[in-house]
Amino acid sequence: MVNYTRRDFLGILGSAAATVAAGRPQPNILYIMADDHASHAISAYGSRINQTPNIDRIAQGGVRLTNCFCTNSICTPSRAAILTGQYSHKNGVYTLNDRLDPNRNHVAKELQRAGYQTAMIGKWHLASDPTGFDYWNILPGQGVYHDPVFISGGQRKQYNGYCTDLIGDFTLDWLKQRDPKKPFFLMCHHKAPHRPWEPAPKYKDLFADRAIPEPGNLFDHYEGKARSVAAVKMRVGENMNKTDLKRDIPPDLHADALRKWAYQYYIKDYLRCIQSVDDNVGRLLEYLDSARISSDTIVIYTSDQGFFLGDHGWFDKRLMYEESLRMPFLMRYPGVIHAGSVNRDFVLNIDFAPTFLDYAGVKAPAEMQGRSFRGNVEGHTPRDWRKAMYYRYWMHNDNDHHVPGHYGIRTERWKLIYYYGRPLGMSGAHPPDTQPEWELYELRNDRHEMKNLYGDPKYASVVRDLKAQLDKLQKEAGDTADVPAPSSQ
Ligand code: CA
Repeated sequence: MVNYTRRDFLGILGSAAATVAAGRPQPNILYIMADDHASHAISAYGSRINQTPNIDRIAQGGVRLTNCFCTNSICTPSRAAILTGQYSHKNGVYTLNDRLDPNRNHVAKELQRAGYQTAMIGKWHLASDPTGFDYWNILPGQGVYHDPVFISGGQRKQYNGYCTDLIGDFTLDWLKQRDPKKPFFLMCHHKAPHRPWEPAPKYKDLFADRAIPEPGNLFDHYEGKARSVAAVKMRVGENMNKTDLKRDIPPDLHADALRKWAYQYYIKDYLRCIQSVDDNVGRLLEYLDSARISSDTIVIYTSDQGFFLGDHGWFDKRLMYEESLRMPFLMRYPGVIHAGSVNRDFVLNIDFAPTFLDYAGVKAPAEMQGRSFRGNVEGHTPRDWRKAMYYRYWMHNDNDHHVPGHYGIRTERWKLIYYYGRPLGMSGAHPPDTQPEWELYELRNDRHEMKNLYGDPKYASVVRDLKAQLDKLQKEAGDTADVPAPSSQ
């Protein structure tokens, strides 16, 4: 029997190997994703509130994307978009109530067919069991922070310990037992720093002796915003409970005073959770170094969407505002991606799958709507790269947060959002009905989106142009206006 090396094997594969960068073998892909980790809580993105030295290592050794956006800012749909390379209305995962069809094609299945070892460890949150992975070990649903249950191969098992550290342990265990002759695609998905923000015992007192800076618009009172946005129930303090804050809310605190008080407890627990994520990113990077595979491995750090860190007085995500829309995205591939580089192109979560396939020398299947940004991160942005992006949030007025369904367009300078009110055909089970409303923001001078310019006659031609662009993008994505998500009916 002939023993082929990995490089020999790729030579035999021929056509696949021919498309791989610079004669390199198919790279390993280590995809690390947190849940609800906003880029303004990463020091590589200029955080004013914390330090993330291990996550920063990926930025220092690779590229930092400053305009990476999700197409639907909520957990389950973003995860489905990342895997399938498709918008929600194509992959069928519109809301938290939907499940990913296990028969649907996605990036891990494609990579598995191309000879990759594939593994999924941590938070999956797609209602069905993973398919396309040689190994998976996932949290049921959201999972819990302390002594969590994991499910692997249909077996449920409870573990002692802290969820983030356990996910780090399981990821390292899998890396150590893999077949070193084959490339791997490994998705390591942390639960943290998702609500209810429960830190590891070792970090319970981190930041205890200091106040965390408040965002400048913590006390936003939503003047001029759409009425349905002003009514959203994501307010720090007012819309939190004892589980969130780990203490009783003083009955005499109201309005801004309550918001100011609650912000410190909220943000400190959120940041403590991130500290454990950062530690575990460090453990994985150290492993790659010790196993001498750092130069053969693409490492990504991202989050399923952004998050409001007291911005506009809110926590949570969902809305098309910057803090929620924006995903952190750091990517390292030594010798291929320039260390310490920054890319400002519009990259979407549906682009991740085609990009990974591109690096693996696999042609993206036609049903994937995203586009590889390999050229972009290597310093060669295609001339016809997108200058605008389409967004749609489908979960109309859910019971917890009352965020209205909406869609919109973001360009380099402008953002136009349409809150379409009660969509045609939607049942009356989603109060309150709202009238259709629009918002327009000029992002160059109003990057915190405080002044809604919609309705100001000065911007009538801007609005007209953006509406035409939005209509075009919506059609190109294969979406239709004013149709509710099937699961919302
Ligand atoms: Ca999330």
